[in-house]
Amino acid sequence: MARIVMKFGGTSVADLDRIRNVARRVKREVEAGNQVAVVVSAMAGVTNQLVAWCTELSPLHDAREYDAVVATGEQVTTGLLAIALQEIGVEARSWQGWQIPIHTDAAHGKARIQGIDGAELVRRMEAGQVAVVAGFQGIGSDNRITTLGRGGSDTSAVALAAGLKADRCDIYTDVDGVYTTDPRIVPQARKLARISYEEMLELASVGAKVLQTRSVELAMNEQVRVRVLSSFKDSGPNDDEGTLVVDEDEIVEKEIVSGIAYSRDEAKITVRRVPDRPGIAASIFGALAENNVNVDMIVQNISADGTTDMTFTVGKSDLPRARAALDAVKPQIGYAELLEDPNVAKISVVGVGMRSHAGVANTMFRALADKAINIQVISTSEIKVSVLIAAEYTELAVRALHTAYGLDAG
Ligand code: ADP
Ligand code: ASP
Ligand code: MG
Repeated sequence: MARIVMKFGGTSVADLDRIRNVARRVKREVEAGNQVAVVVSAMAGVTNQLVAWCTELSPLHDAREYDAVVATGEQVTTGLLAIALQEIGVEARSWQGWQIPIHTDAAHGKARIQGIDGAELVRRMEAGQVAVVAGFQGIGSDNRITTLGRGGSDTSAVALAAGLKADRCDIYTDVDGVYTTDPRIVPQARKLARISYEEMLELASVGAKVLQTRSVELAMNEQVRVRVLSSFKDSGPNDDEGTLVVDEDEIVEKEIVSGIAYSRDEAKITVRRVPDRPGIAASIFGALAENNVNVDMIVQNISADGTTDMTFTVGKSDLPRARAALDAVKPQIGYAELLEDPNVAKISVVGVGMRSHAGVANTMFRALADKAINIQVISTSEIKVSVLIAAEYTELAVRALHTAYGLDAG
């Protein structure tokens, strides 16, 4: 007997048939004698619709009201799954974030979980009731509903697994594991039986949507055993199914490059002809930080005439706030113009082997040059190289790099 958390993403609960399928899977775990908590996402497409409504009404909407709206998607799924479970004879009830409660900070739209009071859940799970928990949401320190950022149900699941001291956290999705790159754009991608927390963290943070970054960070810190597997394959979780996220020393064969990721979620901003003097970067990025805009890649040119261009990327959804913040400090900074380009993609190569091998970045630049793809911005970390390119070349670039690093399945 084990205590397990099972998480099902949007496509896995996209319609009533799939919700019935999830219910049957949950029933199997209950019949095997396990205590089960299930974390669910909103039905596929629902969150996008809810976000679009908020943005249509107001691009700079109140983040607290945004959370009140977008958290509803998960609420619907919890009720539907509880009904589907009851219908096949499994005792179950739905739980919203505020009911458990899942405490978060008050950073609406990207809140962080601070603690979960799982005592009542555990009591009921021990009595045989399945807890169907709404992912993506919690209750903020301001006593209002919060959400955890897109893809946040993964984080709910890992946090719940840590809070309930679960033996396993199984993340069921629409692919059967973590691959060397998104299998939807590279059919030759290879499934990884295991991946280290560090590499998964880096891949997630540069765009591999299969797990939310924060969920991997939590799993690493709390030592939660996370497995990614398909909700559409009809076998139960066994040792060689899916991908297990583990400590680096549990991986025998270490590759130099473990994966390629892409993100189309960023936009490029160029601040043209900024005076080249001390304090300018602080003014620009200070204004963005004060408005809660995260900046990712940054480049600054050398100046020939006392001015310089500053180019950086921000999340696409932060673009209106970034623009407003930079417009407000224009008189103080005195730049010539602000250029925006949302049609960019960030392509990243990740691998712990980069620490000890030279030439990894050069292989990337060569492969992109061979396809005549122009690199706009470059950034690196110890185990990652990222480049910004025109969005239209995303697939071409990812495929070329996958081949260049010898990752294609044989
Ligand atoms: P869910 O709704 O279940 O949370 P997501 O859409 O958030 O599912 O994440 C699963 C998707 O992640 C897959 O359909 C796949 O297209 C994408 N993905 C991106 N990179 C990878 C990767 N390296 N391995 C597997 N899937 C990936
Ligand atoms: N429904 C939310 C989203 O689409 C959370 C999740 O699916 O993880 O971002
Ligand atoms: Mg997801």
